[in-house]
Amino acid sequence: MATDRTRREQLLTFLLLPAIVIAVLVLSGVMFRSSFQLEKLREQSVVEATLSLANERADRLDKRIIEQDNAVRSVLDLTQRTEFGSKWLETAALQTPTVRAVFLVDLGTPARNVVALASRAPELETERFRRLLVHRLLPELKLDKPPIDELRHLHKVEREKAYLLSHWEQELNDRHFLVVVWHDVPRIVHDVFPALYSDMQQSRVNIVDADGKIVFGPPLTRGGLTLGRQFETTLYKWTLNVTMNSAAELAAAVARRRLLEMVLVGLSSVVVIAGLFVILIAAERERRLSNLKSEFVANVSHELKTPLALVRMFGELLQTGRADTPEKQSQYLSIIVNESDRLNALIENVLDFAKVERGQAAYEFSPGRLAEPVGRAVEACRVRAERDGVALELSLEEVPELLLDERAVEIAVINLVDNALKYAPEGKRVGVSVRPVSGGAEVSVVDQGPGIAPEDRKRIFERFVRGKSASGKQVRGSGIGLSLVKHIAEAHGGSIRVEDAQPHGSIFTLRLTRRPS
Ligand code: ADP
Repeated sequence: MATDRTRREQLLTFLLLPAIVIAVLVLSGVMFRSSFQLEKLREQSVVEATLSLANERADRLDKRIIEQDNAVRSVLDLTQRTEFGSKWLETAALQTPTVRAVFLVDLGTPARNVVALASRAPELETERFRRLLVHRLLPELKLDKPPIDELRHLHKVEREKAYLLSHWEQELNDRHFLVVVWHDVPRIVHDVFPALYSDMQQSRVNIVDADGKIVFGPPLTRGGLTLGRQFETTLYKWTLNVTMNSAAELAAAVARRRLLEMVLVGLSSVVVIAGLFVILIAAERERRLSNLKSEFVANVSHELKTPLALVRMFGELLQTGRADTPEKQSQYLSIIVNESDRLNALIENVLDFAKVERGQAAYEFSPGRLAEPVGRAVEACRVRAERDGVALELSLEEVPELLLDERAVEIAVINLVDNALKYAPEGKRVGVSVRPVSGGAEVSVVDQGPGIAPEDRKRIFERFVRGKSASGKQVRGSGIGLSLVKHIAEAHGGSIRVEDAQPHGSIFTLRLTRRPS
């Protein structure tokens, strides 16, 4: 049942892991795609914004010119031919700053003469323009029955000079006249363009002629998004170009943000996958620990059962009078005492370990001599050593006074000596020595047994862990002895370590450094 469940859990884990990894990848992909689409939308909106800006700016110029045309129109009176344009001239500089002159052309005669004019320009210049108008510009105008009063424009380049005319037909006493308004193009370029386009900070503007030559503004460098729009009505041969500076910045910002998003998505995926692995490792460790715990319970039960069975067996033998000689009786009794001691030591170990596990291990420190608990521990093991034919030797050097929990130190040393007897009886000699070291004292237990396999050296101090030397020879044990020793050593401000003994065997050294202040 249990193995079935474990297998099911394992299967689930191994299916779940790739499923989660795939889910993370899919999620990253979707995020990446939507960020890409979002960027496209942003680009589109930049194009639209630039286009509407270009339209609006181009229309502004048309509006400005037409406003002036209308201003001229509102003050012109054709009936007062001799006074033609005089009213306009009064406010011309203010109301119609780009208008140089206004001409009245008689359309009734084939010659199309200028019959009246009003001009703000010097006479010579006006006359030169009048000739240009009659000979060059008027023939360009499409005058085949346009609606009366309809405002039209002519944008023409003559000898590299640009001209802008506004014109409309008017009827008076059945005669057709054409009113021509001469706009000063250089003035439009120098005054009107800067006034109209200087407020644009987010974008740059220039105006180019039909050949792409710049009429106004700086060259527009690459990088931003540039859109062109011809002036619809007035200077229709020219094109207004608008570059969104912010478009380049926006694109860079978008690219930066996308990079950041990608890095974040990548990092999150790594974190999720790493987290999964950590969980898997933790689960595996938990599983191993739980196996170790089950083993521990089995081992401890076995450890309890064996001496108990011996005590019972030899007690019964004594009770039923089957030990007929005094030597036998004394032998049986010493077995019973020994096994009870072992039982007692095991139970104390388990209880102390349980306290450590629950974090309730409380030590009672008092100034003491290390020789005493160590001596007691060696004596407690002596009977067993003799029974196993092992010489248990104790050598004591003078050590300074330490702060000790003597009972705990005794348990630690018993554990070390007990292990030496358990795992290295063939060495026939176990040595326990106490010596001073700088800052405290050390207790070493040396045996001449198999020693500790290199891969076990760190592990054996962990709870429930049993080494190769235990499994190889099927030595009984619970795997908690050394972890208890480690806890006791650390509580005494010290440590426990293991080294190889020469020619073989191991040396466990308990270092204690707590000194009375
Ligand atoms: P246990 O003896 O109950 O297994 P311990 O915590 O006391 O538990 O010891 C852990 C492991 O360390 C043992 O299983 C054994 O493999 C190894 N070990 C301890 N002392 C010795 C020793 N003196 N010689 C060889 N191996 C030892």
